[in-house]
Amino acid sequence: MIYADNAATTKLLPSAFEAMKPFLLDEYANVSQPYAFSQKAKKALKEARKIIADCVGSLPDEIFFTSGGTESDNWALKGVVLSDNTPKTIITSQIEHKAVLNSCLALERLGHKVIYLPVNREGVIVKEKSPCQAKPDIPLYERGCGLPRNLTTVHNYDNEIKIVSVMMANNEVGTIQPIKELCEIAHKNGAIFHTDAVQAVGHIKFDVHELGVDLLSASAHKFNGPKGVGFLYMKKGTKYPLNDGGAQEFGLRSGTENVAGVVGMATALKYNVENIDTNISKLKTLEDIIINKLTEAKIDFIRNGSNNRVPGNVSLSFKNSEGEMLLHRLDLMGICISTGSACDSKKTQISHVLKAMQIPEEYAKGTIRISLGHNNTESEAKSIAEALIKILR
Ligand code: PLP
Repeated sequence: MIYADNAATTKLLPSAFEAMKPFLLDEYANVSQPYAFSQKAKKALKEARKIIADCVGSLPDEIFFTSGGTESDNWALKGVVLSDNTPKTIITSQIEHKAVLNSCLALERLGHKVIYLPVNREGVIVKEKSPCQAKPDIPLYERGCGLPRNLTTVHNYDNEIKIVSVMMANNEVGTIQPIKELCEIAHKNGAIFHTDAVQAVGHIKFDVHELGVDLLSASAHKFNGPKGVGFLYMKKGTKYPLNDGGAQEFGLRSGTENVAGVVGMATALKYNVENIDTNISKLKTLEDIIINKLTEAKIDFIRNGSNNRVPGNVSLSFKNSEGEMLLHRLDLMGICISTGSACDSKKTQISHVLKAMQIPEEYAKGTIRISLGHNNTESEAKSIAEALIKILR
């Protein structure tokens, strides 16, 4: 099997598994307990928080453990918007993950206003004044969608602009957004800035304090950590609770800590951050192998996303083809890829991301996402390209 769906999930790093084992088998104490038996688990949790903070440039007490990216996104948006009873405006983009879009929709149902910013053909947020674009063509937006507006005019809206949420890297096409710049505009307009960095953490270099973001979501299984664990970075001084219960996670996120998961996440993130340059250059080589082979074979395709994209993401739209067909044919050849995002792979419709980017329909229908990881080899990249050429011909 060739696994090339690393944007959906990644293989657990063996060292992360080894680091987790003691906390699954022997050191299983509840860290909230005062007895000596809980000390090792407590220490491990503290160390993991420090490792993760160092990896993203934050303070340890700005890192809050969660069950993954979806929870972190829900926490950021709902935590901020529901922090008091006033009606708010939320600004997000048309190409966010459903964890953000459906959180926005839920808030819209409670009477808050959501504005969806358009993107250009490369999937980059349009900041400068641009003609209003059509309402995105998916049921998700059918209720109460504001027309996409110019981010710099947000102060004109009646409700308080409470939060701007723009993803750092897109999960379908890999486009990286100018987060620092967007964050500055949001702050100038008095809004809190959240970024869903699930596809970016462990894959591209950044420092949360340097970016200036208030909230940032991450998920361990996207960077070779275990599934079901992630974190939310919350800038010091901004404290929004997620749920009600015990006093875990500084009283903001109740629930007994997943010590093994957190330890595995910290081990995987440290490894990925320490090896980021090697991984980026390896992935670039693998990407080039695929693109060059397809080009040499004169296959008619578009590579989606901007040049500044998350390493290993190869989103390709083949003219007059079918993404679903390509996925299944590749599957029969032992190759795992995806059509658009993992959540969309059962549907044949063009994804909301490709629609927002206005990829022509004859190409958009034939879209697949190959997402390479550091476990992939050059010979695997060659095999993927050769398999595609064979099918397409
Ligand atoms: N945000 C983005 C950009 C993602 O790619 C994903 C996962 O596909 C999520 C959020 C959800 O993360 P999780 O699977 O950890 O809930």
